[in-house]
This record gives sequence, structure tokens and C-alpha cells, in this order.
Amino acid sequence: MGPQYGSDHAGFGCAACCAEDALVAGEHHQSRNGVRVERLIQDDSHFIVSVQRCGLCSQAFVSVFTEYVDWVGSQDAQYRTVLPITDAEADDLMAGRLSPHQVGALGDGRRHLKSDWPSGADEPSVYWGSGVFAVHEGF
Ligand SMILES: [Zn+2]
Repeated sequence: MGPQYGSDHAGFGCAACCAEDALVAGEHHQSRNGVRVERLIQDDSHFIVSVQRCGLCSQAFVSVFTEYVDWVGSQDAQYRTVLPITDAEADDLMAGRLSPHQVGALGDGRRHLKSDWPSGADEPSVYWGSGVFAVHEGF
């Protein structure tokens, strides 16, 4: 029995980086030899966008990280979205033809790995989202 995939991410990634179980996929994305940063597109302290690539299957991803400083709480709210993209889309991002703010539209019909860590939560919740998503710069 191979991994079971939903129809909405057919063609993207492997059983590690696009594992049906978001926690399994998330672990692979965080591991040293899992999904590596290929190019930083934007590197502000509260808004980090990078092109990443799976070490196993070479699937490209765009990672959008947003942090909101919580001046009251001890832990800042952190949100990450990791969306599989085509090599052409990765090239466009790296060449500046595609802005980080436009990648949310690529989520249409495509699953993306979400990691939400609101201020005050003990740990992030990791899950597969789908559809167009908003790209916000943190503060
Ligand atoms: Zn992979």
C-alpha cells in the first residue's frame, strides 16, 4: 500500500514532503535533510519568504513566514505557509518576476502546509490548507 493522496495535490512532491498526514510532512520539512532553503527571496525579521526544495524528490516550495510581535505575551505569533510550486514558478520568484505577495493566488486548487502558532498557544498547529491564501507582512 502506497501513501494515499487527495486529488488536490496530485503531481506535487513525494510521500515525505507531501505526506497525507500534515504532522509527518511538517517533520520532514523541519528536518536537516528534509526540505532545504534554496534561495531567500525576502528576509525581514517579521516576513521571510524563501524558495525551498525537497532533498528526496526535488519538489520546489515557497515558504512564507510571518511573525507578529506580541508586546504583551512572551511568545510572538508565528504563521508559516509552505506551498508546492512548479520549477517555472520557482524561477519566476527567484528572478523577481513573481512577487512574494502574488504566491497566495497559487494556492488555488493546491494544498499547502500551514503552521499556525498564535501568541499564547503551547505549540503550533500544523495542517494542510487549500485555496488562495493571504500573504501578510508581519510587524
Ligand atoms: Zn519530496
